[in-house]
Amino acid sequence: MSKQSKRIEALVYHAKPTPGKIKVIPTKKYASQRDLSLAYSPGVAEPCLEIDKNVDNVYKYTAKGNLVAVISNGTAVLGLGNIGPEASKPVMEGKGLLFKIFADIDVFDIEVNTENVDEFIETVKNISPTFGGINLEDIKAPEAFEIERRLKAELDIPVMHDDQHGTAIISAAALLNALELAEKKIGEIRIVVSGAGAAAISCTRLYKAFGVKKEHIVMLDSKGVIRTDRTNLTSQKAEFATNRKIDSLKEAMVDADVFIGLSMADIVTPEMLKSMAKDPIVFAMANPNPEIDYDLAIETREDIIMATGRSDHPNQVNNVLGFPFIFRGALDVRATKINEAMKMAAVKALSRLAKEPVPEQVNLAYNETRLTFGKDYIIPKPFDPRLIEEVPPAVAKAAIESGVAKAPIEDWDRYKNTLME
Ligand code: NAP
Ligand code: MG
Repeated sequence: MSKQSKRIEALVYHAKPTPGKIKVIPTKKYASQRDLSLAYSPGVAEPCLEIDKNVDNVYKYTAKGNLVAVISNGTAVLGLGNIGPEASKPVMEGKGLLFKIFADIDVFDIEVNTENVDEFIETVKNISPTFGGINLEDIKAPEAFEIERRLKAELDIPVMHDDQHGTAIISAAALLNALELAEKKIGEIRIVVSGAGAAAISCTRLYKAFGVKKEHIVMLDSKGVIRTDRTNLTSQKAEFATNRKIDSLKEAMVDADVFIGLSMADIVTPEMLKSMAKDPIVFAMANPNPEIDYDLAIETREDIIMATGRSDHPNQVNNVLGFPFIFRGALDVRATKINEAMKMAAVKALSRLAKEPVPEQVNLAYNETRLTFGKDYIIPKPFDPRLIEEVPPAVAKAAIESGVAKAPIEDWDRYKNTLME
């Protein structure tokens, strides 16, 4: 299909038959006058009074507990940059669609017209009573770090900035599995991170939590290697500054075991790949075009384990493997947070799932004959029906064990059955 016809197809998809991708559907009967008198006045006053007596009843009588806000100000939309709130709306509606189809979570997408951090935080706080959880989306760094940090501290419902943590969780699962295949220990690997934005910082923090040593990390931004002797570093960049006296990506790549790309297309050369250690792990995740072209990388090193953000190659690091299931688990135990323990539980569940035999329906959905754990299959595929059975319970358990679950699950078999309905 030509570029022009793909463009038209996408526009028609969004415009017809009704503009947009989601709508609101009533969940109660509304056929008779009696139904209406329950749905609205006077019947509706009863749940109002119950909630007024005890605010936790809001979970019993309203949709709050299954409703997530996908909130953006449109300052870092996909790879398109700061295109503003209205232009970000198709992405936020799309996220709503994904939450619904993968985890049966309802979404209101909210596009906020401000780039001011305090105003944005106030807006989210003020509307938070409506929601069971908050998914922050496509907000530019470094503002996104402060927005998320403060909202997490000040709200008692789960808040997650998906561009940071979604990517971190999926790529960490892929990394654990790639290291197993390459027979390398996480505490020993030398890792180069290209990019120091929202995604790169959060990924590197999570890899560290899994055992990557700080002294084995070299991070680069648009100005080159982030060194301790560089001035005017943000606190997030300073966290990963290296003592090594190197300046370029080319120098950093020599003998590295892992390359993590969350920066720009085509900045890695075949020569750089050749200089990496044996069985190099390359996650070139810049979208839409990776730091090195997939085919070029595979041709250059036959021992490479490669992942990208693209669906047309094996090992797509796709956030949809994370956010629907992480929020499902968090909402189901009424978690007050999405904490490190819950994220790490999601990583382990995803990594474990990739090592199990793949159901036939997954092979069929992806036109594959037999997906098996190996270089070309290190993370599960989004249309794997086992994700909803495996990831939310793991996240929910971690929430309970780490003490942030307000409504712990007691009957796990029953819970798993509800997930599969
Ligand atoms: P971001 O916050 O804008 O960060 C981009 C970072 O890349 C900045 O730190 C920037 O440096 C750095 N950079 C720019 N040019 C560079 C170069 N030539 N060499 C090294 N670093 C360079 O964006 P983000 O949200 O983190 O996303 C970054 C990229 O990752 C995008 O392409 C995005 O599409 C992709 N991504 C992919 C996935 C996925 O595959 N699932 C998920 C998230 C993000 P300065 O700090 O100096 O500006
Ligand atoms: Mg995003």
